[in-house]
Amino acid sequence: MNPDSQPTVTIQQDPIKEQKRAMLEVLRKQMVNDRTLPFKSANLIFGEGNVNAQVMFIGEAPGFMEDQQKKLFIGKNGEVIDKMFRKIGLPRRDAYLTTVIKRIPPKDHTPTKGEVEAYGAYLTQQIAIIQPKVIATLGSFTMNHFLPLAKINADHGKPQTIGDQIYFPLQHPAAALRVEPAMRSLEMDFFALGKLLGIQRPLPPPPANMPPPPPPPPPKEPEPEQFKLF
Ligand code: URA
Repeated sequence: MNPDSQPTVTIQQDPIKEQKRAMLEVLRKQMVNDRTLPFKSANLIFGEGNVNAQVMFIGEAPGFMEDQQKKLFIGKNGEVIDKMFRKIGLPRRDAYLTTVIKRIPPKDHTPTKGEVEAYGAYLTQQIAIIQPKVIATLGSFTMNHFLPLAKINADHGKPQTIGDQIYFPLQHPAAALRVEPAMRSLEMDFFALGKLLGIQRPLPPPPANMPPPPPPPPPKEPEPEQFKLF
């Protein structure tokens, strides 16, 4: 070996993850360059998180602060989502977060069917790349994008399967901030979602006055390594 050569450190890459990241970047650039997409004057907030996520959370559209900071679910709504993530033991970085409409619409403008369809076509491709086990929809707008007949008050927290895809409707965090019962049902629905995803909830810390654990039992005689035939 050449005495000057350094030992090489091989960093294990996840090729599927790398491929998904590359495909998502191509899709993002396509959206940025697509002159037919509406609300062009705003920033395009594509999505963020783990491209191998089991669950994709999909909201409506970026809000003012999100447009400014080019990050999703910040501000009060983001605080609600982060609180729910903590409760079920799902780190934010393990999920993928995005929206149906990826630019903030002008004030007081409800996106038309055509505008939703224009962004929806890209969302379909984004989902096909990430292939999440569950799509958790936030609010009735996103829920009805995938489940046109569902009603948020009746159907939140109830998973629905279409083809291979599980949809899990959730109340929008803004609704949960407005009324306490919606916050409670959002919390219960998050726990149900955690169960569906097989997340082991972290154990709560032991109470302060808990007795110390018993000492470990004495070590057993070692098992014979061979059958005693004689
Ligand atoms: N941020 C929000 O506050 N709401 C959404 O629906 C999406 C992003």
